[in-house]
Amino acid sequence: MTVLVETIKEVREYVRNWRKEGKKVGFVPTMGAFHAGHLSLMAQARKDCGAVIVSIFVNPLQFAAGEDYDRYPRQLPRDLKMAEAEKADIVFSPSVAEMYPKGFATHVIQDKNGLPSKLCGQFRPDHFTGVMTVVAKLFNIVRPDLAYFGQKDYQQFLIIRRMATDLNMDVETRLMPTVREDDGLAMSSRNIYLGPKQRKDATGLHRALKRAEEMVNSGESSAATVVGEIRRVINRVKGARIDYIAIVNAETLEPVKEIKGKTLVALAVRIGKARLIDNVLV
Ligand code: AMP
Repeated sequence: MTVLVETIKEVREYVRNWRKEGKKVGFVPTMGAFHAGHLSLMAQARKDCGAVIVSIFVNPLQFAAGEDYDRYPRQLPRDLKMAEAEKADIVFSPSVAEMYPKGFATHVIQDKNGLPSKLCGQFRPDHFTGVMTVVAKLFNIVRPDLAYFGQKDYQQFLIIRRMATDLNMDVETRLMPTVREDDGLAMSSRNIYLGPKQRKDATGLHRALKRAEEMVNSGESSAATVVGEIRRVINRVKGARIDYIAIVNAETLEPVKEIKGKTLVALAVRIGKARLIDNVLV
């Protein structure tokens, strides 16, 4: 049985009892509207840990005015069933008031030119502060041994790992591969914003990244050349608006000219009402 818990106090009671029983606590933070990507994180946590807690919280702090906070999909009953199928012990779904009571004033930031300033940070300036703040709170509430994140949000993973290290949070972060639809589109709760035609167009992102991967594997090392080819593939998709195509060092997220060592190829593209991100490590 997966138990739905809505208060911080109750989560702490469960976790305290698990610790007494000597169980390792695995944590999967999410905004809900589950798909197979979320489930893969839960499955890994279930393998590694004696207790698994999944949070569902659409965090207002990480949405800018005019972004999709209000229309972000919320489907708790369905999510609960899916978490139950993955044998999660608890789904923690707090209210906004539970997480941000009146007077809430503390936010987590990183250096001005640090990881949150790169890639998506150029287009969503306060987004990662919102993410770090909520994840710091959730880590403090749950005190997990292990926390699981998806590669689709690779920048987010790096930022959270940096935060956990810098603030001496006693949690090990794990990165799991991006789960994709059969046609390659990275699964995302936001894919529901796509109409049927746009849904087809959206496969262009994955096609472009596959092409980039092929080029690098067959010896191309010029970032400009690979970016040019990605742009060419995306530009063939009518109605796709590119936020960025970037080839960066996979640890620092600094742009590289020459592709060598662990490198991230990442993009953000808007199609209709959806802003889609995807990446590959090469
Ligand atoms: P979200 O609910 O979109 O905030 O995502 C919660 C967690 O699931 C984050 O760690 C995401 O990176 C991860 N995630 C989202 N989509 C995927 C995917 N397609 N494959 C693997 N992990 C994912």
